[in-house]
Amino acid sequence: MNWLTNFVRPKLRALVTRKEAPENLWLKCPKCEQMLFMRDWEANQEVCAHCGHHMRIRPLKRLPRLFDEGKFELHALPKVTVDPLKFRDLKRYDARLKEAQGKSDGSADALIVASGPMGGRVAVVALLDFGFMGGSMGTAVGEGLVMAADLAVARKAPLIVFSASGGARMQEGILSLMQLTRTTIAVRKVKAAGLPYIVVLTDPTTGGVSASFAMLGDVHIAEPDAIIGFAGARVIQDTIRQELPAGFQRSEYLLEHGMVDAVVHRHKLRETLIRLVSLLMDPVLSEGRGLAVAVR
Ligand SMILES: [Zn+2]
Repeated sequence: MNWLTNFVRPKLRALVTRKEAPENLWLKCPKCEQMLFMRDWEANQEVCAHCGHHMRIRPLKRLPRLFDEGKFELHALPKVTVDPLKFRDLKRYDARLKEAQGKSDGSADALIVASGPMGGRVAVVALLDFGFMGGSMGTAVGEGLVMAADLAVARKAPLIVFSASGGARMQEGILSLMQLTRTTIAVRKVKAAGLPYIVVLTDPTTGGVSASFAMLGDVHIAEPDAIIGFAGARVIQDTIRQELPAGFQRSEYLLEHGMVDAVVHRHKLRETLIRLVSLLMDPVLSEGRGLAVAVR
């Protein structure tokens, strides 16, 4: 009609709609700084298409890629006493927990336990969630791992753990440290039943988790360029007062030094796990049989 409706209004609308457009359609790769289209990046399992950088992926997004036809069953974590020490730092611990639960699609704590067919055979998978309070291990995570181990034994299934953690949960004090022994015993149950226990170390696996179940696998696989260690590099450097070697505490460095067995791209994880479990569990056939007898 006039200058206001024909010119000013569309301009204003354009300004407003631009703001309304979702800001998270694109993200920048923290390593190569290339822009990635969100949908492509998700389809690529959160691996940068330009430089292959593996970003931290949450368990519920990882799970459908592991099981046959994406079919799996989630197992609720056993109930534990919430906030046993009534701990408070800047915030109350129970408030922190609720906040983390609200951002985690209903997970109760930093561990997700699932089971389902993988390569035609049932597998139990437990995944730590770094997005939930830094994947820290408290009573709930410990109980969850014990449950996962019992489930694996009951179903005569391999136990596969994906680790991603900053360590023990400080808000639970000594109770969180007790989970180091509890999870170690849980792993031992799986091994005593003659079942494979495989660990996939993802970025970052540090502290109490790397000092317990995450380093006790029959086989250790690591995702590329993941930080894996106990104490942080800066703490070590300040203590020993020596320059640390390049790539220290990274997957490839640990592979070179015999701490992990393989560094595997996220896209190849499922087939690698299926192959490994088959090697460890299937009866030895034809030419291999002689070897198996000789070893026994
Ligand atoms: Zn990149």
